[in-house]
Amino acid sequence: MERVVSGFSVRPGYELISAYRSDRPAVPIDLSDNTNQWGVSPSALAALATWTPRSVSEYPSLYSDALAAAVGGYCGVSPDTVVCGCGSDDLLDAAMRALAQPGEVIAHPAPSFAMIPIFARTNGLVPVGVPLLPNGDLDADAMLATNARIMYLCTPNNPTGTAHSRAAIQKVIDNAPGVVILDEAYGEFADEVYTAEAPRYPHVFATRTLSKSFGLAGLRIGFGVGALALVAEVTKARGPYKVNSFAELAATAALTHDQAWMAGVASEVKGLRTRFDASLREIGLSPLPSQANFICVPVSDAKRVVEGLYARGIAVRAMVGLPVIGDALRIGLAPWSVLEQVRDALREVVA
Ligand code: PMP
Repeated sequence: MERVVSGFSVRPGYELISAYRSDRPAVPIDLSDNTNQWGVSPSALAALATWTPRSVSEYPSLYSDALAAAVGGYCGVSPDTVVCGCGSDDLLDAAMRALAQPGEVIAHPAPSFAMIPIFARTNGLVPVGVPLLPNGDLDADAMLATNARIMYLCTPNNPTGTAHSRAAIQKVIDNAPGVVILDEAYGEFADEVYTAEAPRYPHVFATRTLSKSFGLAGLRIGFGVGALALVAEVTKARGPYKVNSFAELAATAALTHDQAWMAGVASEVKGLRTRFDASLREIGLSPLPSQANFICVPVSDAKRVVEGLYARGIAVRAMVGLPVIGDALRIGLAPWSVLEQVRDALREVVA
C-alpha cells in the first residue's frame, strides 16, 4: 500500500530506506571514505587540462566506448564485455534493476557494503543479509540456501577488509540459481582478482571502481565486466550519458598510462597495512586481516572512539553493531606519518 508523506505518496517499503549518512565538517585527517591518500593519477590530471568548452556544451559519449576500450586493456577482457558507469554504485544499482524483478531477493554477506540494502529496496528488491563465517569467510552454503535471484559478493569485503576464499566464491558461482554480482571495488589491493573470469560465465557480473585505486573518487567512475548478453541488459538499465566527458577523459588516461603509478600506490598500501596492523596490536587492538586499502578494528564502543578521534582532528568510520563483529572502526590507509598520528590518538582514546 502506498504511504502518504507530507502530501505525496511514496512506494511501499520506502520507510525502510534512509539517505546515506550526511557530511560532517572537514577535519585535517579524513580516512573515513577509503579514498586514495596518495592523490590523483597524474595522467588523469594532465588529461583534464586538455578540456575545451565543447567538453561542457556537448553531451559526453553515449556509452563511454573509449573508456571501455581502456578498461579492456587494463583487465585483459574484450571491451564489449565492459559497461562503464557513474561510479560502481551506478552499475550495482543498474544491475539490480536489470537482473531481478521487484519482490525478488538479493542475498548479501553481513556485514557488507552499506549501499546494497539501499539500492535493493529502491529497486523493489528484498535484501537478505547472510552472516559471514566466524573466520570472516563468505558462508557459501547459507548464501545458496536463500535461493536468491541475485547473490552479491564483495571481495575484499567492505567494511571488514577480509577477502572471500576462492572456494566459497566458486561454490556460489557454480550453484547460484540466478546472477552473481562480484564487487571488487578494492581488487587492486588484494592478492586475487576475479574480474577477467566474469565473462566466462553467463551469470557473473564483476564491478570495479577508479575511486580508490586511481584517486578519481570526485569524478565518479566505475565499470562492470560480464558476458555480452548480461552486460547488454545492465547497459539498458544504466542508460545513456552516465559518465561525463571529464570523467571519461581522465579515466581513459589513468588506465592507459598510469597502471605503474597505481601499482606503486597499491604496493605501498600493502606494506603499510602490515605495519599499521602490527602497531595497533602493540596498543592492544585486534584488527581483522585486511586485503583492502583500509583496516577494520573491532572496539567496544565505536561511536565514543570516533568522537574522540574527531575531537583530535581525525575522521574514521564508526561501524555500530555489525553482525558477527559488533562495533568496529574502519580506517583508510594513508602514508605512515598520518597513520602514526591515528595510532597515537587511538592509544589515548581507547585507553
Ligand atoms: N563497492 C564497495 C564495496 C564500496 O566500498 C564502494 C565505495 N565505498 C563502492 C562499491 C562504490 O564505489 P564508487 O561508486 O565510488 O565506484
